[in-house]
Amino acid sequence: MTVEAHKETRGFQTEAKQLLHLMIHSLYSNREIFLRELVSNASDAADKLRFKALSDDSLYESDSELAIRVEFDKDAKTITIIDNGIGMTREEVVENLGTIARSGTAQFLQSLSGDEKKDSKLIGQFGVGFYSAFIVADRVEVFTRKAGTPITEGVHWECTGEAEFTVETVEKNTRGTTITLHLKPDAEEFADGWRLRSIIKKYSDHISLPVIMKKDPVGEDAESKEPEDETVNHATALWTRSRSEVSDDEYKEFYKHVSHDFEDPLSWSHNRVEGKLDYTSLLYIPAKAPFDLYNRDASRGLKLYVQRTFIMDDAEQFLPMYLRFVKGIVDSNDLSLNVSREILQKDPNIDAMRTALTKRVLDMLGKMAKNNPEDYSKFWQAFGQVLKEGPAEDFANREKIASLLRFSSTHTDKPDQDQSLDNYIERMKEGQEKIYYVAAENFNTAKNSPHLEALRKRGIEVLLLCDRVDEWLMSHLMEYKEKHFQDVGKGQLNLGELDTEEDKKAQEESAKQHEDLVKRVKDVLDNRVADVRVTNRLTESPACIVVGEHDMGAQMRRILEQAGQELPETKPIFELNPEHPLVDKLDHEQNEDRFADLANILFDQASLAEGGTLEDPAAYVSKLNKLLLELSN
Ligand code: ADP
Ligand code: MG
Repeated sequence: MTVEAHKETRGFQTEAKQLLHLMIHSLYSNREIFLRELVSNASDAADKLRFKALSDDSLYESDSELAIRVEFDKDAKTITIIDNGIGMTREEVVENLGTIARSGTAQFLQSLSGDEKKDSKLIGQFGVGFYSAFIVADRVEVFTRKAGTPITEGVHWECTGEAEFTVETVEKNTRGTTITLHLKPDAEEFADGWRLRSIIKKYSDHISLPVIMKKDPVGEDAESKEPEDETVNHATALWTRSRSEVSDDEYKEFYKHVSHDFEDPLSWSHNRVEGKLDYTSLLYIPAKAPFDLYNRDASRGLKLYVQRTFIMDDAEQFLPMYLRFVKGIVDSNDLSLNVSREILQKDPNIDAMRTALTKRVLDMLGKMAKNNPEDYSKFWQAFGQVLKEGPAEDFANREKIASLLRFSSTHTDKPDQDQSLDNYIERMKEGQEKIYYVAAENFNTAKNSPHLEALRKRGIEVLLLCDRVDEWLMSHLMEYKEKHFQDVGKGQLNLGELDTEEDKKAQEESAKQHEDLVKRVKDVLDNRVADVRVTNRLTESPACIVVGEHDMGAQMRRILEQAGQELPETKPIFELNPEHPLVDKLDHEQNEDRFADLANILFDQASLAEGGTLEDPAAYVSKLNKLLLELSN
């Protein structure tokens, strides 16, 4: 006996323990899914074996009929799920069943509130498959042996759902994994043939492997005869069936199998392509973002099959990064069975498939937006931010992606992002040529930005952008349906035909009239501003800050600086509203010191109104206090 063979008791990784607890308590109302999860794992294990056996068929050990068996014992109150798939080594058992190795797990758990109701909704983002056994069992035993290892290297794992589990090296004749659930007293009802069959039919019909149960014994001599085997599920790869043959429920269950998600998808698209390339795809849009959507190392991509044989998970080559939320499978008839990631990267046929699959997803989203706005709004909430990465990554589909974007705008003045660019265009004023937007750190700053005043006054709609990606998005979007985008906080505000000749004349006159004031302010703020001018943007505020036409927007600048990038300093343009009493007061201020203080205060306030931070807040406060004191004297 090797040292390792002895029985060993180990503690769960803290995270696993926490998840286990949450799992047991939160999925209580839908307990039967435990079977779906275990059958799904058995099916994955068979897929993995079949793939490995492509290059080494000795792994089949003279048993190549892959199947899943489900047995039960009413008296012993057990359910047993048996597969002859890939199996696990001792290390793998500890790794897979005792730790949760996925990156970001710790953060995910930290985000839990401790309120079980709320958290149970979050658990769906996680996919806790195997642990669902503990919803119905108070003791779970796993017997497993990895394909290709000697029968003396079987492993027995056991756990009561508490803090510890045991592992022991045992003899196991058959390859694969056997899981025995010792049912809790309140879950004994599951040790029933009819019940198990109906659960399998409901959740696992799409599994391409046969799920086999013994027929219930009937009749007089039921006791004496060995009951026959019966395949309970459909047992063909779901995507090979024609669309009309597959029910919505089957599509949904298949989604849960491939995505490891607990919730129904929002939408799917199932297609067979024949011709130069021959493949089937089944693509899903999930309803909720996984907890690790923004984690660079998180797995993404489709499950790849070649002629019905599973090849790999997370085949990233079939969709662009900005569609990384899409789940599903692609089954190719052209690729070779020993295709690798490296080959996928180089194969020009994959590019063609990627182009076609991308289009499918965008079309599916377009359809959802049109026919099912409620679902689309759920989609947008979960994945809108990711889709916004699209125009930068996928130039060719820019226009199509743009039509799928949703924004908040001054039309509603609400933070909900529910306005499309087409909605905006429909509402454009006569003579309006551009799509206006303001970008700020948060919604309220955007909504209350002084830059909007002149546009609001004229009833011109402005998109209110406050997501981190927004300025970056806009810099790649540039135009939609031949309408250019215009940041209202950049450069001269040129409203084109929206300004009447009279407006323009009045502006010119006002500029002339205040030349002197502008010069004085410029002298005082010399090292802080690039230029000072009379504004045509403001109606309410005394002043505002504008960046140069070709300078980086303030929001983008802040993001890059926070990310540690050193950016060349650019000075803003300071615009004054002479209609405002404070500016008028400034104009008439004879005391040069007080003039300087007031000019600096107005400038600092303009930065603050934009959500900026002051370089020297203490100086601002002391100047302001000085003025306040003078007021009260
Ligand atoms: P997931 O299926 O999402 O990976 P699970 O919690 O369902 O997560 O399973 C955890 C891991 O345990 C699996 O990824 C797999 O490596 C291993 N595993 C579970 N069940 C089996 C099985 N029947 N045969 C082989 N490995 C299994
Ligand atoms: Mg699983």
